[in-house]
Amino acid sequence: MSPSALSSSESAGHMPKLVCFDLDYTLWDLWIDTHITPPIRRKGDAVNSLQDRHGTELGFYAQVPEILSELKRRDIHVAAASRTHAPDLAREALGLLLVPGQGKDDLVKAVTFFQTMEIYPGSKLRHFKSIHKKTGIAYSEMLFFDDEARNKEVESLGVTMCLVRNGVDRKVFERGLAEWRKRNGK
Ligand SMILES: [Mg+2]
Repeated sequence: MSPSALSSSESAGHMPKLVCFDLDYTLWDLWIDTHITPPIRRKGDAVNSLQDRHGTELGFYAQVPEILSELKRRDIHVAAASRTHAPDLAREALGLLLVPGQGKDDLVKAVTFFQTMEIYPGSKLRHFKSIHKKTGIAYSEMLFFDDEARNKEVESLGVTMCLVRNGVDRKVFERGLAEWRKRNGK
């Protein structure tokens, strides 16, 4: 895609083939296995908002839906890698959460943005080896957003990890892209 075809907010320049996101404190501001008590539910067609048994709200950080949408539109593979101890609940949340889709007034389930999901406890080296095996995409073509410094170990594979402090937003997304371009000489 030529830069002129991008809308003003979209990132220009080389893009990785795959962007992977951690879930807790990267896409939403809680630990799903600690702070959320099932059952979770959505009130009607509420956008980017679920509630648990006690009324605790679960939703993506505000700019996450538009970033996911941009990646989909640009045909970039989107993955999730989480080491939560509540994998079923995390999957259920992504399946229930409604976010804006590609068309005007379209709402889609958040899960539809994720082509690959690796959600289980353990080292994220395992998550990324599995993503690589499933997609055939080179590690050097992967950009990963995560809030835990220990997960930087995936860089030993060739993945670029962008450390997130207060969740993913447009600024963090651009910083991650810049780090990936610099690391790969793009
Ligand atoms: Mg996290």
